[in-house]
Amino acid sequence: MLRQSLVEYAKPLETTEAPTPTVSGCEVLLRVSHCGVCHSDLHLQDGYFDLGGGQKLDVRGNRPMPFTLGHEIAGVVEAAGPAATGIAKGERYAAYPWIGCGKCGLCARGDEHMCNQPRALGVTVDGGYATHVIVPHPRYLLDVTGIAPEIAGALMCSGLTGYSAIKKAIGYLRAGPLLIVGLGGVGMMGLQFARAATDKPIFAADIDASKRAAALELGAAEAFDPADAGVRKAIGKASGGGVGAAIDFAGSANSLSFAQAQVAKAGAVVVVGLIGGSFSLPVPMFPLRALTIMGSYVGSLGEAREMIDLVKAGKVAPIPVELRPLDKTSRSLDDLRQGKIVGRVVITP
Ligand SMILES: [Zn+2]
Ligand SMILES: [Zn+2]
Repeated sequence: MLRQSLVEYAKPLETTEAPTPTVSGCEVLLRVSHCGVCHSDLHLQDGYFDLGGGQKLDVRGNRPMPFTLGHEIAGVVEAAGPAATGIAKGERYAAYPWIGCGKCGLCARGDEHMCNQPRALGVTVDGGYATHVIVPHPRYLLDVTGIAPEIAGALMCSGLTGYSAIKKAIGYLRAGPLLIVGLGGVGMMGLQFARAATDKPIFAADIDASKRAAALELGAAEAFDPADAGVRKAIGKASGGGVGAAIDFAGSANSLSFAQAQVAKAGAVVVVGLIGGSFSLPVPMFPLRALTIMGSYVGSLGEAREMIDLVKAGKVAPIPVELRPLDKTSRSLDDLRQGKIVGRVVITP
């Protein structure tokens, strides 16, 4: 099999070749048809998250090198172990990548995506920037019949992340409309699910005018520029005193400061993005504003199934996707890092 692998942190990916894996037990070998390029790959490539103030969160772990990134995987079953039931060779699936140890309390309650001993595809075990990938059990394969294969993989990351964040925010919308901050790939997905989940107006905020325009096209009621001096007043007026929930899909010090400042009393901020930085707020503001700030990290296998059903029901408009070959993976990560990508880039090994 051919792969685009990380051979050293903070270096470009390199082409590596390895024997195509054989399957045993419950394992399934997918021939990768599509693998989405994701912002979180950049942190894995760097080996750290920026915590602000010069602090870094080391995410190198003891990942074996060469290591193959890529967690937004769709593909076709090429082989299955003797205990892998319910699937057949040639069938097309998206792989749920946020796989846990399967033994701990978090996994037992269905929160494998938060497991502390993860086996996440493309994050802790080899992923989809390759011609083939091993999925440890058929339960992680989602039937994506009727869904465009080029978005099926991305749904497992940006789609699922957007969906899970929207689910968390929905309960707060009695306090006002929803504000989506940061209209990159995940934010655009979130906007789609928000439209499916609520009749309340949805506001969008992004410093990039082209992304604001795209958000309006996808059904945002209004779009705001966070860098605009009068933005707080404008959002206050449009929302009737503040939004019920703001979802920060950027996750920087600036975006979180901005997002929390737009929230009405008894509202909530859901932090999703991982750009990095740190943020402070006077402690009395939490009780005085009855403010909730929560995080959301990808989503559970159960949520992935719910989301796929929504997509199959036609509740989500397709987002712009650009297909690129496997040997353009590293270049695509660079483009993403430099903000040159609108919509999604999907690798087709
Ligand atoms: Zn991703
Ligand atoms: Zn676990």
